[in-house]
Amino acid sequence: MKEILDISLENEMDLVLAHRRSMQVGEQLGLTVATRTTFATAVSEVARTAIEYTDNGRLNIIVTGKFPRYSLYAHVVFDSDQVFRASDEGFFYAKKLLPDFTFNSSGNAYFIEMGLGLPRSLKLDDPKLGLLKDHFENAEPLNAYEEIKNKNNHLNKLTGEQEEEIRMRRELDEKKKEFISIASHELKTPITIVKAYTQMLKQLKGEYSEKVSGVLDKLDLQTTKLSLLAQQLMDVSKIENGSLQYELVDVDLNSFIKEALDILSSIHIGNEIRLTLGENCRIKADPLRLEQVMANLLGNAVKYSPKNSVIDVLTKLSPDETSVTVTITDRGLGMSKEGIERIFDKFYRLEEVSSSHPGLGMGLYITSKIISDHGGRIWVESVPSKGSSFSIAFPVHQ
Ligand code: ADP
Repeated sequence: MKEILDISLENEMDLVLAHRRSMQVGEQLGLTVATRTTFATAVSEVARTAIEYTDNGRLNIIVTGKFPRYSLYAHVVFDSDQVFRASDEGFFYAKKLLPDFTFNSSGNAYFIEMGLGLPRSLKLDDPKLGLLKDHFENAEPLNAYEEIKNKNNHLNKLTGEQEEEIRMRRELDEKKKEFISIASHELKTPITIVKAYTQMLKQLKGEYSEKVSGVLDKLDLQTTKLSLLAQQLMDVSKIENGSLQYELVDVDLNSFIKEALDILSSIHIGNEIRLTLGENCRIKADPLRLEQVMANLLGNAVKYSPKNSVIDVLTKLSPDETSVTVTITDRGLGMSKEGIERIFDKFYRLEEVSSSHPGLGMGLYITSKIISDHGGRIWVESVPSKGSSFSIAFPVHQ
């Protein structure tokens, strides 16, 4: 079966199209004037009824059969609450014109099929029918109405395709979110258990050799990294679900930063971390989340800098004392301008570090969300091969 034409039947203008296009199909197939007029008139009779009572009709002109026997058919479908019968005027005449006529209905859906056998003398074959389809697909519009109608159809088709794509993307995104949520929870339990056993074993120090002790230290370090990853995955999932929660308290910023850096310096012993405290102030923040922010920014500064390089941490109160900025400056890899624009995106990593440095691109995404949820701001200044400066600014708590 080859569909040659598809015309929606919405108003009287479509009746003109249905008639003229049916005539043209007959002409292209090589039917005599009498036969094509008969076919087109039958089609018009049925289309007229559909158009008179509905605006949802559709006309399809198709060629069925196999070489060398083909038939030309017109299908008209429409929905209507009104009851129609095969004996109604339009259908009655169409049936007289084309005896190969069937009238079907199911509920309020109507389906009318009418057609005629095509003589062998037309010497049709499948390639010729393919050309016929192409001919009508590329045919010039019959009038301005058809031109607009074609454009609308094209636009509707594009919109439909785009909507479908958006729907599929949303579905995929939902599945990804669900996967991240489940995976992070499932990972957390075994990691916690491994970590607890490692800690237990470490406490039995003296009962095993130095070598085993070294292995346990490595095991401990790796499970800490794994646990951090699982925690980050869980945070990403919470951000997506809008369920990241905060316990805001009054925080003395300078003391907080100093304490956080004492802990972080003992972890990152390979780099010198220099702290310069500005005038003190208080902010409203969730200390655990703030610690996470500092750990991420300092961890990155260490990760993307040479060993032994200096990392500066600076706090600075704004002149009007309404905001305070914490800046972490490293002397590391730095970043390109294009990279800077995207580093706060979820899962984004600069290409230059993707194979040389471990990571999943979640840290800065989570950090920026935590900062913005605190009413703050995060930004970065960076020069490739020279280093980066990450700054976070918070409103001062009066
Ligand atoms: P991760 O470090 O796990 O990749 P992040 O979200 O913390 O994830 O960082 C995203 C990307 O930003 C990193 O992959 C890296 O390319 C870049 N980046 C972050 N901090 C720095 C830094 N201090 N120096 C250079 N590049 C950095």
